[in-house]
Amino acid sequence: MAALFDLHCHSTVSDGLLPPHELVAHAAKRGVKVLALTDHDDLGGLHVAREAALQHGIQFVNGVEISVTWKRRTLHIVGLKIDHENAALKAALDKVRIGRDERAQEMGADLLAKAGIEGAYEGAKALAMQSIITRTHFARFLVNNGHAKDTKSVFKKYLVKGKPGFKEHEWMDLKTAIDLINGAGGVAVIAHPGRYDLGTINMLLLMHEFRTLGGTAIEVVTGSHTPPQYQQFAKIAHKFSLKSSLGSDYHGSGISYMEMGCIPDLPEGCVPVWDDWPEAKLLN
Ligand code: AMP
Ligand code: MN
Ligand code: MN
Ligand code: MN
Repeated sequence: MAALFDLHCHSTVSDGLLPPHELVAHAAKRGVKVLALTDHDDLGGLHVAREAALQHGIQFVNGVEISVTWKRRTLHIVGLKIDHENAALKAALDKVRIGRDERAQEMGADLLAKAGIEGAYEGAKALAMQSIITRTHFARFLVNNGHAKDTKSVFKKYLVKGKPGFKEHEWMDLKTAIDLINGAGGVAVIAHPGRYDLGTINMLLLMHEFRTLGGTAIEVVTGSHTPPQYQQFAKIAHKFSLKSSLGSDYHGSGISYMEMGCIPDLPEGCVPVWDDWPEAKLLN
């Protein structure tokens, strides 16, 4: 059965294709009953999304997806139920976004220009409109200009480690991200753990460290996990006494791992991250 919750998705405030109010309307149409908007490093869409959720009769949960560097790798930590006006969180994300823009300038004006591609920073910035610039915007610019046939191949050719447009970047550290999320009244969740190329030992180390630092849950069911990975991460969550979350990681129709309203429920035996939330009780 499709889940009634979707606790991970993106709007035009980061690299999604729909503005927050349209994203909420889309979620409602697809049968989602409890939605969290989790834009990358930005809280700017939460207010509008919450108002839209009220209009569409669905429940809304504040969220964010924070970029983190752990052992020289990039991880994503989702914060759910955060106070979107928390000053410390807002200030820290302001800083991340400044770093993002410097990185984007370097990716475009330096790295991609050296690979013979002109105007990538300006192109990605135009596609991002007022929002943060992510690698997704570079990917869209490169595809639009005929450098690759689709987003998937453009990442492989230009935007991942070892490729001409890739820039190593130092994001927030794990402890800071968890402290900020907890300090803003939220819960920290490791996003799509199956997407990190960590190996078994580092994966277990990450779970242990995350739990010790005050993390609450991991995404067991997410758009990019396979059904065997749902089982694998359900076991890991249990082993480390972590709760389980689920979300589509929807960015827009046709460009996402999964449509909204299609993700399956958590496997049997998982403790949902929402087990003590009023939103879950209202569903009964
Ligand atoms: P950034 O935070 O700027 O490094 O951009 C990361 C975003 O790029 C992710 O949130 C995904 O939306 C997207 N992304 C990362 N890797 C891939 C990939 N291999 N194919 C398509 N999109 C990707
Ligand atoms: Mn993204
Ligand atoms: Mn992510
Ligand atoms: Mn995401």
